Amino acid sequence: MNQEIRKKSHGPVGPGSIIGVLGSGQLGRMFAIAARRMGYRVHTFSPETDTPTGQVADVEIKAQYDDLHAVRSFAAGVDVVTFEFENVLAATVEAATEYAPVRPGGRVLHTTQHRLREKTFLAAKGFPVTPFRPVNSLAELEAGLAEFGFPSILKTAGFGYDGKGQTRINSAAEVAPAFLATGRQEMVLEAFVDFAGELSVVAARGVDGSFAHWGVIGNTHRHHILDISIAPAPVPPEVEHEALAIARAVLDELDVIGVLCVEFFLTRDGRLLINELAPRPHNSGHLTFDACVTSQFEQQLRAVCGLPLGSTELLRPAAMANLLGDLWQGGEPDWAAACALPSVKLHLYGKLEPKVGRKMGHLTAMAATVEEAAALVTAARDALKGAPSIHR
Ligand code: AMP
Repeated sequence: MNQEIRKKSHGPVGPGSIIGVLGSGQLGRMFAIAARRMGYRVHTFSPETDTPTGQVADVEIKAQYDDLHAVRSFAAGVDVVTFEFENVLAATVEAATEYAPVRPGGRVLHTTQHRLREKTFLAAKGFPVTPFRPVNSLAELEAGLAEFGFPSILKTAGFGYDGKGQTRINSAAEVAPAFLATGRQEMVLEAFVDFAGELSVVAARGVDGSFAHWGVIGNTHRHHILDISIAPAPVPPEVEHEALAIARAVLDELDVIGVLCVEFFLTRDGRLLINELAPRPHNSGHLTFDACVTSQFEQQLRAVCGLPLGSTELLRPAAMANLLGDLWQGGEPDWAAACALPSVKLHLYGKLEPKVGRKMGHLTAMAATVEEAAALVTAARDALKGAPSIHR
């Protein structure tokens, strides 16, 4: 450990310090907003400019993630490094670690950026996961399908998110084409889970091992992309307790410093299966920005800076609706119509190009019940499209 990193690893990183963020999307943007509110400076590093994070950061560095010289000089100029996406290259993390603490650490990234490693780790530690088999050949795919039956889901082992790199195999006729489409990369076959619902636990762990969570959040997806989240999720207390216990054990096992989200399937017979882990603030936790005493972004900041974690108290039942680029297909959305619902909060990420399926922003609302909150964000989103609002 060199002199500089020793100094940086010692004691809390206080306000006025500089946080380095690898990645420049909406998660980094909301993190930067939380950090700047608490008096920190933020530097962001990615291969692009005028990015969602760069627009609110103090400094935006444009360089490739494999430009290790640029990574080292970036890390040398900040007090602590964090990231806002999990597919950061191991070499990038190692280079940054020479000059500043990287939180969460490289092991968390290494485990969670590869589905097969993640699932193997979880299964080995006794966590309940969706049944899976590694697939490197057509024979292995056929053997897996003989075990799981149709439909099953074939996923790329690395670099997949929001349903990217996923194929549902419904029949024997689809097996060979699905395998050929993989381009011979490492794959994972998963049993199809006919779930009753999807849940997530967003949780944080401090430098001292302290733990905080935002309860169980209920999620619905459209086309494999998160659509609506509600908090608290309407689940029986035993499901809540189990989900929180699993989340705590996962963060402890991985020795996480920062925020991590555990995504679950809840089966029709009441069992929880981990679908995947995200070692960072998560889309399902966006509602914490408006609806909780401490948001997931501020908590990430507190954790990576070695500060005590803040209260995660939910102020009122809340819901979040994602705004995808699809909304722009009929022209600029009708912002005034959505803002006409005065309790709905609009978040936009400053992305320049509204592509179909691209996360452009979200809406959050609080109400007396989660159903009312969900109705509010849905009505506001409908109003954006110019559709008549069902809200009264
Ligand atoms: P992922 O990228 O793995 O989080 O998948 C995105 C979404 O696809 C999930 O949130 C589910 O809605 C769906 N999905 C993924 N894997 C499965 C599975 N094994 N069974 C049923 N649905 C799945």
